Amino acid sequence: MGLTAALNKHLRAGELFAALESVTRPSAKWTGATFDVFNPSTGELLATLPDMGTDEAHAAIDAAAAAQSLWAAKPAKDRSAILRRWHDLIVEHVDDLAAILTAEMGKPLAEAKGEVLHAASYVEWYAEEAKRVYGETFPAPANDRRMLVIKQPVGVVGTITPWNFPASMVARKISPALAAGCAVVLKPAEQTPLVAGAMFVLAEKAGFPKGVVNLIYAAEGAPIGRELCSNPKVRKISFTGSTEVGRLLMRQCSDQIKKVSLELGGNAPFIVFDDADIDEAVEGAVQAKFRNAGQTCVSANRIYVQSAVHDAFAEKFVTRVRELTVGDGFSAGVAIGPMIDSHAIEKIEAHVADALAKGGEVRCGGRRIGTNGTFFEPTVLTGISHVMRVAQEETFGPIAPIIRFETTEQVVAEANDTIYGLAAYFYAENLKRVWHVAEALEYGMVGINTGRMSSEAAPFGGIKQSGIGREGSRHGLEDYLEMKYLCMGNI
Ligand code: NAP
Repeated sequence: MGLTAALNKHLRAGELFAALESVTRPSAKWTGATFDVFNPSTGELLATLPDMGTDEAHAAIDAAAAAQSLWAAKPAKDRSAILRRWHDLIVEHVDDLAAILTAEMGKPLAEAKGEVLHAASYVEWYAEEAKRVYGETFPAPANDRRMLVIKQPVGVVGTITPWNFPASMVARKISPALAAGCAVVLKPAEQTPLVAGAMFVLAEKAGFPKGVVNLIYAAEGAPIGRELCSNPKVRKISFTGSTEVGRLLMRQCSDQIKKVSLELGGNAPFIVFDDADIDEAVEGAVQAKFRNAGQTCVSANRIYVQSAVHDAFAEKFVTRVRELTVGDGFSAGVAIGPMIDSHAIEKIEAHVADALAKGGEVRCGGRRIGTNGTFFEPTVLTGISHVMRVAQEETFGPIAPIIRFETTEQVVAEANDTIYGLAAYFYAENLKRVWHVAEALEYGMVGINTGRMSSEAAPFGGIKQSGIGREGSRHGLEDYLEMKYLCMGNI
């Protein structure tokens, strides 16, 4: 099903762009510029949207600031009820949202449905957490005093999201902010603004008051980012995307010591020890590497396999990878959709070429498919070393480089030898080894005998240059709350 059909079925395309209060209006100064959204699988034009800039961002921030105190003052139970309605509407419209997502981003429809339900699970979680913003009391050092802490929303939050999970990133950012009592302004990625728009349609239906949720469409993130970071009415920036842009936003926020939550890039190691269950490790690696065609911040970027099991793992892994079908996300049985654009393909090709020039070997795949669209074969490389580009940089594509290793010390040192610290995975059975490696890996998240760990119930996020803050769990709510200490004297 194409985008228009999906929208028309329940959401009515006309309403999406014309009647939404939460979509910021082009200002009087708007140049009339627009930008196009394409299906990366077919090149089909999906929509043309107004290309907004600083003036519109300013107006959206003003709307959020005007709504902020009323939203914060709403009883938590009422905020919770609206979030809950939004969750129910997202679930009710899962098929439409998934179709829009597949059309603009390319991922297989089943994965898109999974992502929409994953997004809904964050909204549901924070609908529940909204009612549990507890304070604290402290025993005072003198009898005539009482000391306590209350939690209050940080205020207006500016959020910027990437294209690779265009539904779940929206939910993961704005639902904890809304639960905490913050009004939000969101700028989705240029390539994937439509599912965000559709989720905002549903947010309005759910009953968020005017000005509490605000959406800006823009072809360029930079001017919107500058306005969000420099406008004093915005108290916090929450960003998911590349480490490079995260650094820039953090610098831009420094003038006002603005709070930041940053979910940035990764370079996840996936380690298979010689005591691992090899069949399970192969399945885990397929999931961790090829989900979303490898365009995932927690993708297994480099696969380390201990010498004794290297050949057996590589053989079984190659067999499994050959079974993965590449194609249009709407076709049945497709496991790998297109890359988001031609830049993504060029980076993948450069990584493969660098590996081959330095002695690596292609065990399957290795090439772009056809000349239309942006499809790349699922690829396994062996003979890879830690210094090759494919192991040093985030590839963001369906390339699985296998690196042989000998000792635990060696692999932990190589796994940690990166500026990133988002996710790591390892497979092992020996309990002593499991604890040792889990504690030694310098990552915010470690998957042990699993290739999948994202959940609304757990704190998702990175250390080092992979970010600041967590999304999901009760910790995700804390990121949108300020702590205020009250000291009552003369009691
Ligand atoms: P990106 O280039 O950093 O873009 C992300 C968002 O930032 C987009 O909305 C983009 O808007 C906007 N943007 C770009 N330049 C900006 C600027 N100068 N100021 C303000 N905003 C700006 O990243 P991407 O290529 O879309 O996403 C892939 C990256 O995200 C990977 O590194 C991946 O690891 C990371 N990621 C991390 C997580 C996590 O949870 N840690 C999750 C998903 C993805 P426009 O595109 O409209 O310019």
